[in-house]
Amino acid sequence: MDVCVIGTGYVGLVTGAVFADLGNDVICIDKDRKKIESLRRGVMPIYEPGLEEMVQHNCADGRLRFSTSVREGVQASQVIFIAVGTPPKANGETDLGQVSTVAHEIAKTIDTYKIIVNKSTVPVGTGDLVRSIVEKNRRRTVDFDVVSNPEFLREGSAIPDSLYPDRIVIGAPDRAVALALIELYAPLEVPMLITDVASAEMIKYASNAFLANKISFINFVANICEKAGANIDDVSKGMGYDKRIGREFLQAGLGFGGSCFPKDVHSLVHVAHSHKESPALLEQVLKINADRVPRLIRRLRDRMGALKGKTVAILGLAFKPDTDDLRDAKSLEIIRALQSKGVKIRAYDPIAMEHCKRLLPKATYCKNAYEAAKGAHAAVIVTEWREFKNLNLERLHDAMKTPILCDGRNVCDPRKARHAGFDYFSIGRR
Ligand code: NAD
Repeated sequence: MDVCVIGTGYVGLVTGAVFADLGNDVICIDKDRKKIESLRRGVMPIYEPGLEEMVQHNCADGRLRFSTSVREGVQASQVIFIAVGTPPKANGETDLGQVSTVAHEIAKTIDTYKIIVNKSTVPVGTGDLVRSIVEKNRRRTVDFDVVSNPEFLREGSAIPDSLYPDRIVIGAPDRAVALALIELYAPLEVPMLITDVASAEMIKYASNAFLANKISFINFVANICEKAGANIDDVSKGMGYDKRIGREFLQAGLGFGGSCFPKDVHSLVHVAHSHKESPALLEQVLKINADRVPRLIRRLRDRMGALKGKTVAILGLAFKPDTDDLRDAKSLEIIRALQSKGVKIRAYDPIAMEHCKRLLPKATYCKNAYEAAKGAHAAVIVTEWREFKNLNLERLHDAMKTPILCDGRNVCDPRKARHAGFDYFSIGRR
């Protein structure tokens, strides 16, 4: 099938590469000329395991190409995916500016029947918006359909998530339209759910809000564990064995960040308000999440005393392991809060440092965790990168001025950390 993906970011690039790998002819479009030029040279704009090899191999075989021209993409394809950003506005509402710009551009260039597929995460009702923009602005009276096909991939495991998803959701106006998408996804041999457009849009927001709910719930329980002397790791395990609950997303920590959960929960709150329904449950989820960093700073201050003039090592910057994405990363919140209190930051991340240097130029960036710890009064593990699970704690301890170790992701064994001489604290456990 001839496929066009408009918006070549985390989702668009992975989607395009995977469809090409399944044997389709794919053209990925982006308005960012530099990004398209570097992709044509085989240079990836993001870090995602396995992506570079997949892109290079499919480009070499002529199934995947890149362009800045929406016209070229639309006219070459039967199915057009929209995968542009849907950032939040200040009031939490989703900014649909990029989606509507693309809908206008499709309208100008549509020449034969097309299926326009919304892969961006959008509030319920956006399918109708795209439909009406194309209908009102098309230059030729050609037919088209609008489908919702929300994306569930996770950064850091985007390729396997796209090749082996738990399910594919296709929200289509009728079964005949859904069939084209079913055909596209058929080689994956995974469950496909066909719904109407509004339900598919809602499935994505409801899923992300539910997962965020689980994270805030376990963090709330962790807060109590800290005071009552229980161990959150055992509590999560004991809960997770129950099939009705499941183990996933029950790791206590610094809360959820990244480009999706915070914005999607805020957006659903906004959607609830707009339908005159109370979003109180989700507001609590956000409130618990918003207190994770202030709570960590309070706990650091309790141990370090006055923060002004002290040095803190930040281990991990990316919002999660195996990605270089810093959008809404907890590291940024922690660093900004500490810097505002006069703390010097020494930071290390295996992948995300170059990007972070541009956002936070005043921090000192180091070549590994031990160099970051040099002369520090405390170290904070912010991202659960694999290499932090096997830190040489004695070496880390010896590099520091005062051995305070805050394990924000519960990756260390508390007994080993204390044995190495650390004043160690973690989340929801002794
Ligand atoms: P991104 O910012 O990485 O990529 C968006 C791309 O769209 C950018 O490269 C931008 O230049 C391009 N773009 C914007 N306007 C354009 C236009 N008019 N024409 C051509 N290109 C244009 O965003 P992302 O992380 O890939 O997210 C895309 C959507 O997918 C969002 O709605 C997001 O919520 C959703 N989503 C993201 C993830 C994730 O893990 N990143 C997972 C599931 C769903």
